Amino acid sequence: MDLPGIVITGASGRMGQMLVKGVMAHDRARLVACVERAGHAWVGRDVGECMGGAALGVTVTDDPLEAFAKAQAVIDFTAPAATVEFAALAAQARAVHVIGTTGLEASHLARIDAASRHAVIVRAGNMSLGVNLLVKLTQKVAAALDADWDIEVIEAHHRMKVDAPSGTALMLGQAAAEGRGVSLDDARVSGRDGITGTRERGTIGFSAIRGGDIVGEHDVLFAADGERIVLRHVATDRTIFARGAIRAALWGQGQKPGQYDMMDVLGL
Ligand code: NAP
Repeated sequence: MDLPGIVITGASGRMGQMLVKGVMAHDRARLVACVERAGHAWVGRDVGECMGGAALGVTVTDDPLEAFAKAQAVIDFTAPAATVEFAALAAQARAVHVIGTTGLEASHLARIDAASRHAVIVRAGNMSLGVNLLVKLTQKVAAALDADWDIEVIEAHHRMKVDAPSGTALMLGQAAAEGRGVSLDDARVSGRDGITGTRERGTIGFSAIRGGDIVGEHDVLFAADGERIVLRHVATDRTIFARGAIRAALWGQGQKPGQYDMMDVLGL
């Protein structure tokens, strides 16, 4: 049987290039197309040559539907507006849609939800095994501690990142809120500046640092009087996200239509 064919959207991006290399090197997947937006300098050219290496025999196209029709899975780390369009097209093509894009708002999520009635969608703000384990641990620690323990999620990323808090920070905050039995919308405090007043008991704080080429660092701090617990994940290489996304694309083959996350893929 043919290996599952994979399309990479946003192939010129930081994650896109990582994914192209990851699929090419994978022994159970094959790269069938790469997508960039109309007018992009890579469109019509071989993706390997665009990346500064040897030709890979895969041309970059600006026609996502034509590309998706050839594929069993689409791996998509782009931007929210593009991702919602791709969700509808991947569903039309009955291809598994793996979404790594972050910064999705309620209106985007509603459209992804609609697409998942017809196709398998795996979406996670972080595709790494380590972070998904950290999410589980955060939920357990938050469940074991009462509101005498202040919870803060602190994240650091490279200077090019456009959204904050990171998708991963929100996953960690959500896990902490679930562990504590509260709604994150009610408990969330993002960023502090000026005369903020004292910390409100039971809130979950978020802080974002942006600089240099930091791949991604996340701390979940539980601070009480006289002691602190810090759960930390440090990503030093984007291949961890690409590896997780390819694993999700393969896992999604044969699943029932619906929305899944990396906990499902990793069986955590
Ligand atoms: P990036 O380097 O800016 O890459 C984004 C790519 O998407 C660019 O090539 C961009 O092309 C392309 N794109 C945007 N709109 C498009 C459209 N309509 N059609 C086709 N391509 C389009 O960003 P990145 O660092 O790779 O990150 C991408 C996303 O993944 C972000 O949301 C980031 O937070 C997320 N991320 C998630 C994880 C995870 O594990 N879930 C890990 C890392 C990053 P242009 O240059 O033409 O705009």
